[in-house]
Amino acid sequence: MPQYKIAVVGAGPAGYFTAQALQNSQTEELTFAIDMIERLPTPWGLVRSGVAPDHPKIKTVSKVFEKVAAEPGFRLFGNVELGKDIELKDLAERYDAVVMCTGSSIGKKLGIPGEDLANSLSAAEFVPWYNGHPDYSDLDIDLSGKVAVVIGAGNVAMDCARMLALNPIELDTTDTADHAVNALHASSIRKVYIAGRRGPEHAAFTSPELRELPKLEHTDVYFDSDLIEDAHKRAISQAEFGELEKHLASNLEAMRLIAEHPHAGNERSMEFKFLSAPKEIRGEGKVEEIIFGINQVVDGKVVDTGETYSIKCDLVITAIGYESLPIQGVNFVKGKIDNNEGRAGGNIYTVGWAKRGPSGVIGTNKSDASDVVKLLIEDLKSPKSTRDITELISSGHHIVAQSEWQRINAAEVAAGEPLGKPRVKATSVAQLLSLGQG
Ligand SMILES: Cc1cc2nc3c(=O)[nH]c(=O)nc-3n(C[C@H](O)[C@H](O)[C@H](O)COP(=O)(O)OP(=O)(O)OC[C@H]3O[C@@H](n4cnc5c(N)ncnc54)[C@H](O)[C@@H]3O)c2cc1C
Repeated sequence: MPQYKIAVVGAGPAGYFTAQALQNSQTEELTFAIDMIERLPTPWGLVRSGVAPDHPKIKTVSKVFEKVAAEPGFRLFGNVELGKDIELKDLAERYDAVVMCTGSSIGKKLGIPGEDLANSLSAAEFVPWYNGHPDYSDLDIDLSGKVAVVIGAGNVAMDCARMLALNPIELDTTDTADHAVNALHASSIRKVYIAGRRGPEHAAFTSPELRELPKLEHTDVYFDSDLIEDAHKRAISQAEFGELEKHLASNLEAMRLIAEHPHAGNERSMEFKFLSAPKEIRGEGKVEEIIFGINQVVDGKVVDTGETYSIKCDLVITAIGYESLPIQGVNFVKGKIDNNEGRAGGNIYTVGWAKRGPSGVIGTNKSDASDVVKLLIEDLKSPKSTRDITELISSGHHIVAQSEWQRINAAEVAAGEPLGKPRVKATSVAQLLSLGQG
């Protein structure tokens, strides 16, 4: 029975859903051997290092990933980085197809003066810091000031703002990295602004995330009800037949409910600012103030009024999108792998954020994977005979196989049990590798 050899690079949702789509396409005549290559000793991509620790249900998708990994013909090559430990051209030679699922991990820049001051960070640093990603465990973040400003109007910005504004006792039973829980307990931040350039009607928050805000026990959340009302009127006037799309109606309704929700007088608060375009971050060597231009919406378009306002603050976090980290031998255009519906040249394909850019939830990668796998199968020629890549990786390099990852996973979960946490994360590569040795 012919068996095709497929390399999947990147063990995030796109990687696992690609492997799953391949497994589900198998017939008596068509079978796949899948090697998944991941730069970290741990798989699951942003499900481990992105999804907020206070949203544990979302992370249960990892059970699906582990089922995929348990199927015959699947191998994990963890702690192996494409472009460093192994080259794309070698994979393309040895495998019938290579699927790049490497995500996008670099934070987009605002491009404004003062952005490089100390304590001006990207969500692409702050999020993996609190989630225990080994590359960010030593992040230099100063939480001794009172006021933080998060720039962006999407769920990542919301996660960052919530993590700063909630009472850290709410994190004690989560898998937030120990260093971050300790720093957040010691934090003096009490006021968090979250600022978007456009109006409430344009915000990319999703309504489940908005609707959980009033449930925060120790944090008051502020929306300007007049602004939400104006946004609602504007949106209706722009809508076809005067009817709002379901998600927009639900978002504006969620914002209105929060605006009307009574405030408990908590010391901690989160305040949403709209029509606020960051112009400059000021400070003597460190963030002290941010200047915003005031925008308005005219005929559905966002325009600058020429007026400004400022917020004195101690920390700025920018959450305005991601782009891919360049990888040796891979063509990137505008922060994504150059591709045509997932075909990236020769026998190379791409799925997920590396293909589409940083949009879509975990499930979006499932349909994406299934579409690209259909094309990949259409393109298959006669199968190659070998798939051994171990000889390509320098001898002595520590490759984390599935069984070793299972030991890391079990050790983290066991460490969490007596503390009532889902796991205690090891946060350095050395620690992770040593857990894998059992
Ligand atoms: C902060 C944040 C919060 C989110 N919260 C939610 C949520 O609550 N619910 C939801 O549905 N979606 C959420 N998402 C979106 C979701 O995480 C993405 O849709 C999904 O992770 C994208 O999958 P991916 O596999 O393309 O990328 P990733 O998850 O980023 O996976 C890419 C993988 O490739 C690996 N890799 C990168 N370069 C290399 C290389 N050179 N060699 C080998 N391996 C490499 C990375 O280490 C990583 O494991 C969130 C996203 C972010 C950023």
